[in-house]
Amino acid sequence: MLIWALKKTTLLDYPDKIATIIFTVWCNLRCGFCHNKEFVLPNEIKKIDDLIPEKIFFNFLKTKVWVLDWVVICWWEPTVHKDLYDFCKSIKDLWFLIKIDTNWQNPKILKKLINEKLVDYIAMDIKTSFLNYQKATWVKEDIENYKESIELLIKSWIDYEFRTTLVKGIHNLEDILEISKTISWSKKYYLQNFKGWNTLDDNFCWTSFSLEELYEFENICKKYVENVHIREYDQ
Ligand code: SF4
Repeated sequence: MLIWALKKTTLLDYPDKIATIIFTVWCNLRCGFCHNKEFVLPNEIKKIDDLIPEKIFFNFLKTKVWVLDWVVICWWEPTVHKDLYDFCKSIKDLWFLIKIDTNWQNPKILKKLINEKLVDYIAMDIKTSFLNYQKATWVKEDIENYKESIELLIKSWIDYEFRTTLVKGIHNLEDILEISKTISWSKKYYLQNFKGWNTLDDNFCWTSFSLEELYEFENICKKYVENVHIREYDQ
């Protein structure tokens, strides 16, 4: 696993539980509003030698077996790494719980991890409605993967959340209505507001929504998903 950074302890992901967060590199999508171009684009990653060796990470974990509860594997897209399965297995051998943040593009690996109980929580990005997906991600995608991943989570035994980073200029009320219908009956849905800085597209000029607009989106979602929340930061 290519580990760009490690946040050794945080209570942010789970109140009352201590997690460590691993930040990986590379992503299969090219969302114009992404804040992380230096880690998303392979040719922007200049200091590959500065990545944290797995051995150092596992040595750290072994010293924290009695302190940490969760390992969070996130940004920029964990499922693009072919060794994700083995990596999770090695973490599970140390009895940690695992959360993965993903953009849903690889349902096969997610299914394998869920079936073999190698993941305990998945946070899945839903960039926008089916029809407008390319507008948000700048990549032509197989929407069947999208549908498969959503269905997989809704039917799975593990805990999960869906989330969307809302950008004024990309999202509108129809998109949010469509997303809500697609994930109706799901457990949790978070609406996150875009913060416009250091975007992947240098000329990106779209903005964030006002709090009132976010509440309007929230009310639409609540018709289909019971548990909807607004997060004031985006990912
Ligand atoms: S916003 Fe997320 S999914 Fe989109 S390019 Fe950035 S890291 Fe990838």
